[in-house]
Amino acid sequence: MSKLRLAVIGAGPAGIYASDLILKAERDFDVSIDLFDLLPAPYGLVRYGVAPDHPRIKGIIRALYEVLDRGDIRFFGNVRYGHDITLDDLKSHYNAVIFATGAIKDAPLAIPGVDLDGCYGAADFVNWYDSHPDVGLTWPLDAKQIAVIGNGNVALDVARMLAKLPDDLLPTDIPDHVHKGLSSSPVTDVHVFGRRGPAQVKFSPLELREALHVEGVQSIVYDEDFQYDEGSLAAIESNNQVRVMVKTLETLR
Ligand SMILES: Cc1cc2nc3c(=O)[nH]c(=O)nc-3n(C[C@H](O)[C@H](O)[C@H](O)COP(=O)(O)OP(=O)(O)OC[C@H]3O[C@@H](n4cnc5c(N)ncnc54)[C@H](O)[C@@H]3O)c2cc1C
Repeated sequence: MSKLRLAVIGAGPAGIYASDLILKAERDFDVSIDLFDLLPAPYGLVRYGVAPDHPRIKGIIRALYEVLDRGDIRFFGNVRYGHDITLDDLKSHYNAVIFATGAIKDAPLAIPGVDLDGCYGAADFVNWYDSHPDVGLTWPLDAKQIAVIGNGNVALDVARMLAKLPDDLLPTDIPDHVHKGLSSSPVTDVHVFGRRGPAQVKFSPLELREALHVEGVQSIVYDEDFQYDEGSLAAIESNNQVRVMVKTLETLR
């Protein structure tokens, strides 16, 4: 083969870095890469998922931009695999395909009431505060009490964005309509629920510390949530990250 024609589906960090690695690899044949995304713009969830008040992570866009700006990867936006382009199309034009389509949608949850009004998946909400082109400019922020279900970093992003004083977000690249929406939100309490205890949370220590020290926000934990079963005690004993989490949460008691 004198030239490998490669199609990459998904222009998030995985698709762009995979393309970059292939182009930089030592090889004795040429490569041409076409990068497709269903959205008009690249960078995937770094652009449309990472919270605006995480500029260091958002800054990855600069490195991804530099790869695309070199000019040796062709980017085609607004092309949805499975709709605008099929596997047969790709097979007839390319020697190989990389799928790097990420996890852009919420997984369905089997919780009674999940389809009621006022219940949303985090993917849609984070898309709103990151100005995703398929999500409207307004979000129905009319609740005083908001429940966030889940104990991972996305839950903390959502809780932090809801609880933060909107003006504290002004130095970030928060879109105007999101600042306006958050400013009119009457929310006073954000409750974060996990199905198990402190030894099983999936936050990263940095995100947890950040969420617990938001200006103007009091973090509250409940004593009854700090009863450790055998599995939890074993996890605390054997895993440093779990120990750090538990210790961090214990300081709030
Ligand atoms: C809310 C949220 C907050 C996050 N915050 C952080 C953080 O603070 N720090 C951190 O390190 N990580 C964070 N992450 C994780 C990080 O965003 C992901 O790990 C990373 O974006 C994954 O890269 P990826 O390229 O695999 O997928 P993605 O970034 O999801 O990119 C996939 C791309 O594929 C495209 N695509 C999907 N389906 C198709 C199709 N059928 N046809 C064409 N294109 C398609 C999508 O439009 C998208 O552009 C966060 C994730 C989320 C959801």
